[in-house]
Amino acid sequence: MEQLPDMLTGLTQHDIEVVEPLPMEYAGAIPQIVRPKEAMQWLNAHHYLSPITRHALLVLESIDAIDLAFDTFACTLLDGETDTAGYPEYSAIVGGVAAHWDEATGDMIVRGVVGWGGRGVRGDTDRLAQRLLASILTNILANQDAMGLARVDRPVPAAGRGGLVCTSCGFAAAHERSFYCPKCGMRLLRG
Ligand SMILES: [Zn+2]
Repeated sequence: MEQLPDMLTGLTQHDIEVVEPLPMEYAGAIPQIVRPKEAMQWLNAHHYLSPITRHALLVLESIDAIDLAFDTFACTLLDGETDTAGYPEYSAIVGGVAAHWDEATGDMIVRGVVGWGGRGVRGDTDRLAQRLLASILTNILANQDAMGLARVDRPVPAAGRGGLVCTSCGFAAAHERSFYCPKCGMRLLRG
């Protein structure tokens, strides 16, 4: 948790915010205004975050690039400007590193994730984002504990059920299939 923000060193002049996996009570949180119950959960879970992080979560969750049922996400503004209210402009690139515990090995998997709001000059934004992803990967691999590259499937959470309570830290995972506590990484025991 402490090392994730370091992997964005040199890539931003803005604050880096770490978003932890959501507990069971927010298992249904989705940033879709047409689903008021799920949208309300999403707002309740994220209203305290900075405008940059909330914007990033909206963009990246909508395209399923991150899932806070199991991901921990270190997030910042990587390129572009914010408006006067502090929200990223549509062409601004947001993102950072997302981490989860691999279901099979228990290793922590860290990946670079970037995205942007939609408008803007697409070719330029694409190229910039590719470059940022490459820089993030370099930073991840430069971490003292990095073991190398891995190809893994992301866990698939079962919708709206929730998993086990961690005996170590007490966290109630929103992810039904968790073998490892999304928050502290301890092996979860099944009854
Ligand atoms: Zn735990």
